[in-house]
Amino acid sequence: MSKNSSRPVGRHFLHIPGPTPLPDRVLRAMDTPIIDHRGPEFAKLAKNCLEGIKTIFKTTNPVVIYTATGTGAWEAALVNTLSPDDRVLMVETGQFATLWKTMAQKLGLRPDFIKTDWRIGADPAAIEDHLRKDKNKEIKAVCVLHNETSTGCLSPIAQIRKAIDAAGHPALFFVDTISSLASTDYRHDEWGVDVTIGGAQKGLMLPPGMSFNTVSDKAFAAAKSSQLTKSFWAWDDMLAMNKIGFFPYTPATQMLHGLSESIAMLHEEGLENVFARHHRLAEATRRAVRAWGLEIMCREAKYYSPTVTAVLLPDGHDADAFRNFALDTFNISYGSSFGHYAGKYFRIGHLGDVNEGMITGALAITEMALALAGIPHKKGGVQAALDYLIAAQESPARAAAE
Ligand SMILES: *Cc1c(COP(=O)(O)O)cnc(C)c1O
Repeated sequence: MSKNSSRPVGRHFLHIPGPTPLPDRVLRAMDTPIIDHRGPEFAKLAKNCLEGIKTIFKTTNPVVIYTATGTGAWEAALVNTLSPDDRVLMVETGQFATLWKTMAQKLGLRPDFIKTDWRIGADPAAIEDHLRKDKNKEIKAVCVLHNETSTGCLSPIAQIRKAIDAAGHPALFFVDTISSLASTDYRHDEWGVDVTIGGAQKGLMLPPGMSFNTVSDKAFAAAKSSQLTKSFWAWDDMLAMNKIGFFPYTPATQMLHGLSESIAMLHEEGLENVFARHHRLAEATRRAVRAWGLEIMCREAKYYSPTVTAVLLPDGHDADAFRNFALDTFNISYGSSFGHYAGKYFRIGHLGDVNEGMITGALAITEMALALAGIPHKKGGVQAALDYLIAAQESPARAAAE
């Protein structure tokens, strides 16, 4: 919304790391009359979604679909499997990990919280080390975020599974994929995850308001002896009704229409192509940031996030003021910063239904805004992104390796 104008012109550049821009196809799919949620047409839709979503989590086990945001699915994973005073192991990768830990405390669990400086993902070696020290096997679950959205750091889930096994520890393994699912490789079954938590409004390109628990056999077994209080979140009622295509309560019918469409769109593009596209857009963004001479919040390349890049501003420059300035001047939204880093960085989301033109548009706006806001930086970030994206079209294999 330009300062000089009374109306926003053109499209808003929604570059927060979720909710992400809604594809028109999803909007159209949701724009239908309400159907009877106990009727045959609904059962067909529900079964289509309950089967289809398994292909996104890469599982043959059931996926529970909640009418709730991702935070609800966090709670569902904990209350279905654990008991009061159970110890859980969590890693302080950033703001979202901290929120999940606080929730665990409020529910009467006892989290061990492995510290980081918020600039890396979860380190498998640190998890293995911690589990080895738990001689009496008191820790009942290891809880990790695949992608820490607040800092732009990805954690190696397959390696963390190996670390848990190497420690010979029986703890359950819970993974939050809210900002990584349908944007980067994820395999619930193959990676031996017990509960995978997902959300609708990020890689799945849907509005907020739907979330998921993908549940392993081991997690179902744990649910039998779990003592935490639950009602709305209980898996058993839900699964009994899902078997016949229904829900124990009124489901979010329009969201399911959208989900059915988004799953179809992901398979039309091909999941591997979806992942490669996110990798390209992320790498182009990082190249722009480096060319500007600014620092990427994630300080080790092996943890780089394919879906969001946090950019530190030089000391003495307020990132929140910069975000407000860019919004007023160029109609773009970035993600904010948290904790000790409040006001120190802004985040560029590059996930969901985003293409080369959209990300280079966002980077061009950012370069203009940096100049106008008087943030010390070098020119040429956009050019560096374009050079990489051109090379990526010429040689996709090389781009994927970079
Ligand atoms: C967005 C997000 C959440 C919170 O999800 P809500 O839908 O806002 O409740 C949790 N974890 C991660 C990693 C996220 O990106």
